[in-house]
Order: sequence, then C-alpha cells, then structure tokens
Amino acid sequence: MRIRYLQNTDEILEKSALMVHNPEEYKGQWLSKYPQCEKVALEIGSGKGKFVGEMAKLYQDTVYIGVEKFSTILARAVLTNEQDPENLPANLALVRSDALEMDTMIGEGELSRIYLNFSDPWPKKRHAKNRLTSNRFLPLYAKWLNAGGELQFKTDNDALFEYSLESLAENGWTVLFQTRDWHQCPEQEGDVMTEYEIQFSSRGKNINKLTAIPPRELQQ
Ligand code: SAH
Repeated sequence: MRIRYLQNTDEILEKSALMVHNPEEYKGQWLSKYPQCEKVALEIGSGKGKFVGEMAKLYQDTVYIGVEKFSTILARAVLTNEQDPENLPANLALVRSDALEMDTMIGEGELSRIYLNFSDPWPKKRHAKNRLTSNRFLPLYAKWLNAGGELQFKTDNDALFEYSLESLAENGWTVLFQTRDWHQCPEQEGDVMTEYEIQFSSRGKNINKLTAIPPRELQQ
C-alpha cells in the first residue's frame, strides 16, 4: 500500500483510544472488553481502516478488530476513524501485528468472521507461503472461527483468487459462495467497500469474492 510518511506515527498510535496495545491480554476474552457486543470479527491487513470502521458503525453488536502489520499504515487507520473524536466507534479495536503472531491474541472459537480484503498477492511461487490464504494461515483461521464462523475474502487479483480456492480445497474448507464479479452480484447490495476495492473497481477491474467455512473437525 502506497502511503505518505507520517512523522508522528508513534505518537498517533500511542494516544489513540482505538488502539489496543496489549492484545495478548484479551485472548479468548475480547467480549469482556466490549461487553455491549455479542460477536467478534477480525480483518487481517486492514490498511487505512475504512472497512473495519464502517462495519463497526453498521453492526454495533460485533467487535471489529483491525490488524495491520505496518505502523505508518495503522496510523492512517487511526486518523480515518478518529475524525470525530466525540463520536468514536465503541466496538472498534486497532492492533499492530503480523497475522502470524496473532495466535497469541485470539482464542479458540472466538471469531464469527475473518475478513481478508485485497491481501498482498505475493506473486512469486517461492513467496506463496506468505499469502494469507496459504496453508500456514488456514489452520489458524480454522482454530479461531466458531461454529458457524466464516472466512470472507475479496480481491482484485485473479491469480490469488484461484490459488486461494485451491488452497482452501486442499485444506478441507467448504466454499459456500464464490464469484469473479462481485459488483454484478445481487448479494453485493449494502456491502462495505474497502479503499482498494474503490480504486480497482473505479478502473473497471472485476472484484473476486468468496465465503468459506473450515473443516468441521478443526472448528471449535
Ligand atoms: N484491506 C485494505 C488494504 C489492502 S492492502 C483494503 O482493502 O483497502 C493489504 C494490507 O495488508 C497492507 O496494508 C499490508 O501492510 C497488510 N498486510 C499484509 N500482510 C500482512 C500480515 N501478514 N499481517 C498483517 N497485515 C498484513
């Protein structure tokens, strides 16, 4: 993601009421921090935070955890979601982490949804293990999702989409829904668009989307 350098990144993150600096303390207990909520959802690679912020406003019974590995990008997410400091979304948590470290902060069966939106494609084969739908990540997602929990994935990248369908099948997941042209689907009505989604679709690029559930024996 291209981003202007923010000089005061650390200060922005430190001061933000939306940031959770000690996410390990909430492993398995996110709802105790947000007692008004009933469900927990996670977006991995939340970028500038538009999607999680809008979802949090729309669905107040759900805690939205937006995880982003780069501090400078996360600082943008803070600024996006703190534009009206009097009116912060009470169910939004921003966390700086790499997806691979997140088992320390998410409990088994704790999540109702995992969102991957426009994840980095890692096109070279030797980097395939870094793709967020590779078999390094899918067993973690299966562990974190509750019964009825779903993975939702949107991407402009057709090759990453095909790879992800194969990887999900190899890992025993069931794909409930898939389309190569999400914006032509009736189900798309009311869906929150991400920053990348707006950019790519305004250039006429088709958007791929799938919804999948983990193999039952792995699900909590
Ligand atoms: N979801 C946003 C941003 C997509 S770009 C949108 O749709 O507009 C992908 C984002 O994922 C980048 O900000 C990148 O820094 C982040 N990211 C990539 N790999 C990650 C990982 N392993 N853990 C956490 N964040 C990651």
